[in-house]
Amino acid sequence: MNTLEAMHLSEASQAFLDSELGSFVNNEWVRPDAESVSVIQDPCTTEVIARVAKGNQSTLNEAVEAAHLAFNDWSRLPAVERAVYLHRLADALERNFDTIAEIESLDVGKAIVNTKGFDIPFGVDCIRYFADLATALPADTPLAIKNMEAKIHRVPYGVCGFVFPWNFPYNLLLWGIIPALAAGNTVVIKPAELTPLSTLFVAKLAQEAGFPKGVINVVTGSGSVIGSALCSHPKVKRMSFTGSSEVGKQIGEACGRALIPCKLELGGKGAAIVFEDADLDLAAEQLSAAITFNTGQVCCTATRWIVQESVADTFTEKVVAKLKAVKIGHGLAADTGMGPMASEKQLNTVIDYLETGKAQGAKAILDGERLQPSGCEKGYFMSPSLLSGDSSNICFKEEIFGPSAYLTTFKDEEEALAQVHSIDYGLANSVFSEDLDKARRVADRMICGNNWINAHNVFAYGLPYGGVNLSGLGGGVNSPETYYDYLRPQTVARPL
Ligand code: NAD
Repeated sequence: MNTLEAMHLSEASQAFLDSELGSFVNNEWVRPDAESVSVIQDPCTTEVIARVAKGNQSTLNEAVEAAHLAFNDWSRLPAVERAVYLHRLADALERNFDTIAEIESLDVGKAIVNTKGFDIPFGVDCIRYFADLATALPADTPLAIKNMEAKIHRVPYGVCGFVFPWNFPYNLLLWGIIPALAAGNTVVIKPAELTPLSTLFVAKLAQEAGFPKGVINVVTGSGSVIGSALCSHPKVKRMSFTGSSEVGKQIGEACGRALIPCKLELGGKGAAIVFEDADLDLAAEQLSAAITFNTGQVCCTATRWIVQESVADTFTEKVVAKLKAVKIGHGLAADTGMGPMASEKQLNTVIDYLETGKAQGAKAILDGERLQPSGCEKGYFMSPSLLSGDSSNICFKEEIFGPSAYLTTFKDEEEALAQVHSIDYGLANSVFSEDLDKARRVADRMICGNNWINAHNVFAYGLPYGGVNLSGLGGGVNSPETYYDYLRPQTVARPL
């Protein structure tokens, strides 16, 4: 019996993994060259779990053409009819809840307690939220201008391209494409090569839910071939990229040259300010959870812990106890709190950062070590780590993307804010204090897309989520603004 069988992978999940996977174009599965495949591993064991045929330039062209042709009918449907398709997709995800949760856990290495408790249901909520929003929000706005009948008339763009990273493939897919679809656009998706499985499963369910041909297309393959061709294709009218700041700059450039409007959801290096009057148990709970959730491979996690000097020792003691208590194991095991890194490459990146950080003088309060949980001896596991030192250290300044935090101390509010703003990321920060006036004041002053009080990782539909500076531009996700972002405004006016 292999490790997966021991984990009781369901028959439905196994059947999907064993099926002939590739790109999804015009409601058909496409495998242009069965020899050219991405081999998908379970990062907990390194066992091969699936083989996904890569698309090529022709696959991409066919996908964009299919989306272009489908746009005419899809965009002309009343919003309420598109909402029916979207709700059917949400129903299908609910019916296949266990399967999609297993696929996502297995592909990324995520703890199943998190996929079942957060990723999958929150993604379903996204579909229902935008389906309902699109039926309720007016596309047109009348303008009160003297001697004129005038309005803003909003129409969908056409083919929207999406490029996604490997860390939250299912959630980011839905956060991205659902508002675009609800607004009447058609989509071409390039998932990460490392973790394409839940995207392909969603495409399969969309087909079963009756989505018309060409409305949803997925092209598998590398960023350099498929991703870069997508963001400069002349029939793509809107682009959205989620991923690293470095690649985001390249995509922004490519879209600029092709004059394709583009939004960028990029990396982060979140800060958490812990004041001496904070509830330290709460802060320790929230911040230990932040760096172990999805094994710290979370763009908005808080990895810079900026703690007031007088409580640094007490906070450290509490948070280290919490980090040591996290149960590390196979993502599909029900009692696992933290799975492995998603890939060997990411594991080595984290280890290299810790080594460099320590060589630069950081103290390892809790050192990150490679682990080999029983049954997962070859997997990419490591324990959480906490370094401390001053804010010039590389581990304070750069995104590490692992279960690792860096603690530094401050004397007063101004010094804490100066440390927050000493680097240019601006995705998500938090402030912990029982003095709510102070907490609100500090939250207002932090230059960042999302600032949370006495919590870290706060998400809700209706609460816009996006980044500034190195963390992105162009709108964010999860709110009515996101929906309007996929509608192009034009004016209609008649002099009276
Ligand atoms: P990445 O930038 O390396 O890759 C992201 C995607 O871009 C992949 O699909 C990749 O194939 C593709 N790509 C790579 N080069 C390309 C090119 N030249 N042209 C077009 N596409 C290209 O990022 P990653 O390692 O997959 O993901 C981790 C990063 O994503 C982290 O920095 C993380 O913070 C960020 N992220 C941000 C958010 C957010 O909402 N702001 C969410 C999740 C992840």
